[in-house]
Amino acid sequence: MTAEILSVGTELLMGNILNTNAQYISQKLCDLGINCYFQTTVGDNHDRLVAAVGLALSRADLLILTGGLGPTADDLTKETIADAFGRDLVLDPASEAHIRARFARMGREMTPNNMKQAMFPRGCIILPNPNGTAPGCIVEAGEKAAILLPGPPKEMAPMFDASVMPYLEKRSGYMLLSHVVRVFGMGESEAEYRLLPLMERQTNPTVAPYALAGEMKLRVTARCKDAAEGELMVTPLLAEIKETLGSVVYSTNDQELHEVCAALLREHGMTLAAAESCTGGMIASKLISVPGISEYFLEGAVTYSNEAKMRRLGVKRETLEAHTAVSEAVAREMAEGIRATSGASLGLATTGIAGPDGGTAERPVGLVYVALAGAKGTAVRELHLSGNRERIRNAASLNALDLLRRYLCGSLTNC
Ligand code: AMP
Ligand code: MG
Repeated sequence: MTAEILSVGTELLMGNILNTNAQYISQKLCDLGINCYFQTTVGDNHDRLVAAVGLALSRADLLILTGGLGPTADDLTKETIADAFGRDLVLDPASEAHIRARFARMGREMTPNNMKQAMFPRGCIILPNPNGTAPGCIVEAGEKAAILLPGPPKEMAPMFDASVMPYLEKRSGYMLLSHVVRVFGMGESEAEYRLLPLMERQTNPTVAPYALAGEMKLRVTARCKDAAEGELMVTPLLAEIKETLGSVVYSTNDQELHEVCAALLREHGMTLAAAESCTGGMIASKLISVPGISEYFLEGAVTYSNEAKMRRLGVKRETLEAHTAVSEAVAREMAEGIRATSGASLGLATTGIAGPDGGTAERPVGLVYVALAGAKGTAVRELHLSGNRERIRNAASLNALDLLRRYLCGSLTNC
């Protein structure tokens, strides 16, 4: 089965927007093992669209079109495909109701041309659009099929994932099964370097790295007949990745660091409280996003001033004077202070210089301490982070959570 992508829109030809839809669809086709030999971009012009569709039908089994499904006169895709497949356009009452309801919900008046979006080539499969008014559709004729998708990527991509992928999986006899491995504490270049032999030898499953803010993930994707076969293909590879990268791997099912920490707290039946200076509540906010965390996360204190650190956490004035607020000693007293005053089994703390001002030669912007206090003692990490204020604060919160994770996994034994 071969596919051709037809991107419809004059704005694409004029360079007003980048054709991200074609890239998105190409990647998915490639993963599925469906060959795509041509990508065509054509403007909102009836004759040229007819010509492009005719040519695509002559050389591909599957046409995937994006754009031109909207209500305005220059949106011609459905009409052209209906002509090419010898169908007339008929009203779909369910789509009409969806469009009317959407306008009512947004409190906007619906002009009559919007009903164009509820008209479809007779006998097609209609693809719902939960993110917009124009549904998509699939027109089938023997060995050939045309898949019509909306132009806005925010509508196209979810529709592709929810409706087109299962259709293509069924048509091609293959499906994709992915696991996402998450890594914290190793740069993307080092991880890639270590995994290169493994990545080069892999064609199915494939391993693709992605950089995230302060961390990275690896998507492991198997092209398989069914989920059970996919799991069998992916499992040894996940184990090999863990073995190669070691304890920086914190999840193989796309869980975020705070979700992993929440699960570990629950598993160990331990409670946590956080005293945050430079992270200003980010740790508490991340943890509180996990439903059911209230049994394990007792409280968070944003202790930004020296006065608050002393009054709320019992940090000693002498410690602040001797070492300054951004120091190992203060981080330690903050973690111990929040643990003691909250009654939690563990106390987590952050203090640092997030910038852009406030740095000195010995204490530059990005100097951060994170500390974890437990029954046996306190572990403190000194970090040298880079980036703007937001990045430093986010990285500080991730490092604090990673310290907690390592403790709960048993690799940190001194606290
Ligand atoms: P349309 O359905 O053709 O009216 O497209 C609506 C909007 O979707 C356009 O104004 C673009 O912003 C966006 N769009 C259309 N086609 C693409 C594409 N191939 N890649 C990215 N964005 C697109
Ligand atoms: Mg358009």
